[in-house]
Amino acid sequence: MRKDVVYYMRENLSPLDVALEQLRIVAEEIDLELGIHEVLKHPKRSLIVSVPIRLDNGEVNVFMGCRVQHNDARGPCKGGIRYHPDVTLDEVTALAMWMTWKCAVVDIPYGGAKGGVCCNTKELTKSEVERITRRYTTMLLEVIGPYRDVAAPDMYTNGQTMAWIMDTYSHYKGYRVPEVVTGKPIVVGGSEGRVEATSLGVVFCIKEAAKHLKMRLKGATCAIQGFGNVGWNAANILHKMGGKIVAVSDSTGGIYNSDGINPSKIYQHKEKTGSVVNFKGTKNITNEELLELKCDILVPAALENQITKANANKIKAKIVAEAANGPTTPEADKILLQKGIFLVPDILANSGGVTSSYFEWVQNLTREHWTVEETNKKLEEKMVKAFDDVNRISKKEETNMRLAALILGVGRVADAIRTLGLWP
Ligand code: NAD
Repeated sequence: MRKDVVYYMRENLSPLDVALEQLRIVAEEIDLELGIHEVLKHPKRSLIVSVPIRLDNGEVNVFMGCRVQHNDARGPCKGGIRYHPDVTLDEVTALAMWMTWKCAVVDIPYGGAKGGVCCNTKELTKSEVERITRRYTTMLLEVIGPYRDVAAPDMYTNGQTMAWIMDTYSHYKGYRVPEVVTGKPIVVGGSEGRVEATSLGVVFCIKEAAKHLKMRLKGATCAIQGFGNVGWNAANILHKMGGKIVAVSDSTGGIYNSDGINPSKIYQHKEKTGSVVNFKGTKNITNEELLELKCDILVPAALENQITKANANKIKAKIVAEAANGPTTPEADKILLQKGIFLVPDILANSGGVTSSYFEWVQNLTREHWTVEETNKKLEEKMVKAFDDVNRISKKEETNMRLAALILGVGRVADAIRTLGLWP
């Protein structure tokens, strides 16, 4: 087995180029049949829609939207919907493909999907966003559904967006169908613990990684990039478990204190000032400095392409847990591996989010509501099992955790396709 296979990629590839290259490399590693490789290269269905709405000023504007269903061999397609001016079909296709592998790695019965509408929510009113959401939903009616394709929030969409989608879909059906989307507010069928689930999943992976490295979590120094939903909750959970949060950051910059910072206090400070910087008793640092700090655990929880070949050599953490999607470039991966840094890849580390979505779907289908203790216990079981599965492959094949996760995810999807056969 070649240990460096994921790294033949150039750094300037589009997300779809990267996703296809990853697939090519894994296909070679697992001797995937050409036919199945061809099937997996192409999404099962890509739908492009135009979404016309009347703006509040009376004018009509048309937004481009799409939904890509990559593969449903293991179950209904599952994936978020993002509202962003830079949404492209290529990017959404790559994200849908990664969702397929992620659901397979954590072994939930879903395939992968992703959707998007090209719009800037910062320039739209709430009622305009609602009209976009409802119109977009009607354009997708024939391809979505609880057993076809289940959407969830992604960038610039949230529980409210999901509630509008569910309401629109339900009006067409004539009865309430909460199981058509996940990430809903609890009052309309959301699951307990969904908000913290991604971060909790990241922390379960960190715990397992620490065990594997025989490292104590109590007192371990942690630096967290990004203080949004995932970053703040990860910092808070790690702090409660005895980790020492030495640095956090957001888009405006970072803060550092070697003695540790209480995340709840930073949260209050950010609520008041809009930023984490200038927090009393800490030193302001840049986002670049945060990544390069001497610490035990680094959690990138903001954007993609943060650890690149330009700074990978300066990373000093023992564990890098990718809460964000795609924070490490392929070239940087190679450098981290050479430095002996233990990396928990995104399709494993942040899969707690989709796992919790799966729990919401199951509760909706059975009209049950689990306690937060039940959901978190089930989440831990799923995450620990997924970590062990990936780690075992990594050891057996003498490869890194990223390639091991891809071998597991793509392998499981390929097995399902093989077993189902090609019809007609
Ligand atoms: P969010 O919008 O709530 O938070 C993003 C945070 O990143 C904010 O604090 C923002 O200030 C910060 N940020 C933006 N630009 C930055 C920069 N240049 N440097 C440092 N910080 C910067 O988003 P989120 O839901 O917390 O998601 C974060 C990441 O986790 C994304 O990559 C997302 O795709 C991934 N993810 C999220 C979930 C989930 O359940 N929310 C699930 C899986 C993966």
